[in-house]
Amino acid sequence: LRVCLKTARRLACLMAGSIVLFGPPGAGKGTQAGRIVNLTGKPQVSTGDMLRSAVKAGSPMGMAAKEFMVIIGLIEERLQGDDADSGVLFDGFPRTIPQAESLERIANVTSVISIEVPDDAIVERIVGRRMDPETDEIYHVTFKPAPSEVESRLIQRPDDNEETVRARLEAYHAQTAPLADWYAERGLLISIDGNSSIEEVGSSVEDAVRNNA
Ligand code: ADP
Repeated sequence: LRVCLKTARRLACLMAGSIVLFGPPGAGKGTQAGRIVNLTGKPQVSTGDMLRSAVKAGSPMGMAAKEFMVIIGLIEERLQGDDADSGVLFDGFPRTIPQAESLERIANVTSVISIEVPDDAIVERIVGRRMDPETDEIYHVTFKPAPSEVESRLIQRPDDNEETVRARLEAYHAQTAPLADWYAERGLLISIDGNSSIEEVGSSVEDAVRNNA
């Protein structure tokens, strides 16, 4: 792979296969990422978090050119880490075909796990999503209630409301969903039915990783 010819750790790079966890906002990517990390030992690279700490106001969609350069630079740097020798798990990136094309130049993506969930289920998931700021654990008021001792410190992301979700879904369908076909054409896409319980989706994700990644 030409990406690897430039790096000092050439052999590790050639063997390194990264996984992209793909799907609409609220599909359950963050919820399922830990299983993939446990199974593969690949560290999770959450570009949303990276961007939030690198630039003050990170807009998730319609990323400005400057932010785009920042994120590609951050990913490139992250891939140099010792723990990235056998690839990483990308969560929340890429979101557009141009981003995927840029990613192709710096990482060896060997599978894309797409969690498919219909829009109506997404709205319910996002509106009920709660985060534990201390552990970063993701909860849901109905589908994954937090233990009573952490309940009082739970936060809701400001953009996790119904209006914003509809706009984010629109952007997802316009800009991000076409990436599924793009990856499918390259033989990398593994689609998972995400419209069932957290446990059921989790075992489909694990099967996909065992069989393909
Ligand atoms: P993403 O990372 O794709 O944006 P999250 O993992 O944050 O999505 O999940 C969004 C919300 O939906 C969270 O509140 C989570 O607890 C809940 N959730 C995740 N997977 C499921 C599922 N299979 N069934 C019901 N709720 C789920």
